[in-house]
Amino acid sequence: MDNKSYLITGTTKLYCIFGYPIEHSFSPIMHNANFQDLGLDYVYIAFDVHPDKLEQAVNAVRTLDIKGLNVTIPHKEKIIQYLDEIDPIANKMGAINTIKNDNGYLKATNTDAAGAKKSLIDAGCTIKGKKILFLGSGGAARSIAYLLSEDAEEIILTDIVEEKALSVANEIKKNMDANIEGKKANDRILAEEIKQTDILINATPIGMHPKEDVSPISKNLLHDGLFVFDVIYNPLETKLMKEAAEIGCKTLSGLDMLVNQGVIAFEWWTGKTPNSKLMKNKIIEFLGIK
Ligand code: NAP
Repeated sequence: MDNKSYLITGTTKLYCIFGYPIEHSFSPIMHNANFQDLGLDYVYIAFDVHPDKLEQAVNAVRTLDIKGLNVTIPHKEKIIQYLDEIDPIANKMGAINTIKNDNGYLKATNTDAAGAKKSLIDAGCTIKGKKILFLGSGGAARSIAYLLSEDAEEIILTDIVEEKALSVANEIKKNMDANIEGKKANDRILAEEIKQTDILINATPIGMHPKEDVSPISKNLLHDGLFVFDVIYNPLETKLMKEAAEIGCKTLSGLDMLVNQGVIAFEWWTGKTPNSKLMKNKIIEFLGIK
């Protein structure tokens, strides 16, 4: 199909996302822009799926031959019971975000964590043999730590709620046989742990728009040997990233993770490489971020 004459016709195939709520999803914009750019006869739509209707919605994927879908909060864990195959690491995580429909057989994976890993690698950050310190032990930290635990030498998860850091770390240690520990996020522990840290990952919402003037860690604890990855994507450069750059650290924004989870899903569904710059620009435009 010629991308200049992009039309939804009787042959157009459907991709979609399920979430609740869903109206703020950037996925339709990212994927439709690339379907059009590559001249693919596909369209991507967002569906608000109430948690009570999730099983029916998954059945509809098979009935309507929806070719692939993303799932977001609150469905990433609960949807697993309705699917046919989960990739081994997503199965251990217990959370997926991408499904491919192969003639009614639904296979799932988690491209959130894979997007984070690809972003780090693309930015020239080596993971193998490194010590990684996470700020925050919620959903984002959990999925990224699962995947990075395959290569990292050591991972420290921290959280203001010590029990949360301990329980996520213990779960990953058990499931991945990883060298990972959970600790309370306070200045004393962070000062001690950061000394030998190579990669610092902020997986808290601290510094996110509109409260941009805060950082989850004091500048005086940072050192120039750190690679600093902030999973926040709005603003593009958080206070933590600014302060880290000022002392000579390499930094990476969460926008790359967001784009790369979409890139990996797109490639898996279509076998084609999307234009990641186009995806990034569409998100920047959609969110109006600076
Ligand atoms: P979450 O589940 O709420 O986890 C955040 C955790 O950090 C919570 O346990 C929170 O504790 C803890 N925390 C808050 N302040 C802290 C501090 N100063 N030091 C240490 N821990 C602290 O949230 P999430 O879903 O993981 O998301 C975290 C961030 O990642 C959000 O900004 C989100 O937008 C971003 N994100 C980005 C992407 C991407 O593609 N780039 C994907 C997913 C998420 P309390 O609950 O007690 O506050």
